[in-house]
Amino acid sequence: MKTLLVFDFDHTLIDDNSDTWVVKCASEEKLPDWLKNSYKKGYWTEYMGQVLHYLGDQGIQESKMRSVMATIPYTKGMSELLKFIGQNKELFDCVIISDSNTVFIDWILKAANVHDVPDKVFTNPAAFDDRGYLNVQCFHLHNCSTCPVNLCKRKVLDSFIQDQLHQGVQYKNIVYIGDGGNDLCPVKSLKKGDIVMPREGYTLERLMSRMAAQGFEPLEPSVIIWSSGEQILSHLNKILVVC
Ligand SMILES: [Mg+2]
Ligand SMILES: [Zn+2]
Repeated sequence: MKTLLVFDFDHTLIDDNSDTWVVKCASEEKLPDWLKNSYKKGYWTEYMGQVLHYLGDQGIQESKMRSVMATIPYTKGMSELLKFIGQNKELFDCVIISDSNTVFIDWILKAANVHDVPDKVFTNPAAFDDRGYLNVQCFHLHNCSTCPVNLCKRKVLDSFIQDQLHQGVQYKNIVYIGDGGNDLCPVKSLKKGDIVMPREGYTLERLMSRMAAQGFEPLEPSVIIWSSGEQILSHLNKILVVC
């Protein structure tokens, strides 16, 4: 049985937020106040739709946007980690679950030549229309009260595992690597033997330590804090030695 590696994208595989990085395409690399003020909490994808529409109105073309997005930095050691996973696909399956979009993630993975490493990328679907505007849609509907309206990563992970079971694929364990508030919901569904890897100093780590301080039941998976891809790689190597 393989180990399933689940990665968040923004501030995990890459060391920034792809949705805010795209603003570098705008003149003076910033958005007008009326647009920034249109954001309503919990409706980020709708807001990104407005931002991308604005960039289209500014005449920003696909090639320009792609070259800007290709400059986003990977988190230290992460492209090497992905390459390691790519060389060990008999041991690992790998999925990305992200609130970014299909176009950005595809460009950024291709920029580091690691686009064939993930088995699946679950994120908001996006595409350029006839006018050359990039449109982004919500990933799915869900009824989780704690997640943003367009994406509950727990629902994505649970249904992926179910689908794999139907295909006869069962995982030995799951390793979940993330940084953000929307990574808390999926890690709560992990079990003993699984591993949660929150990024040191980021929201997920803070939320998990606050839960522990407030006396919530400890999570069943073990928790390993990371700050670079090298550290994650060395833990994956330890898992391999044990098995
Ligand atoms: Mg993130
Ligand atoms: Zn949720």
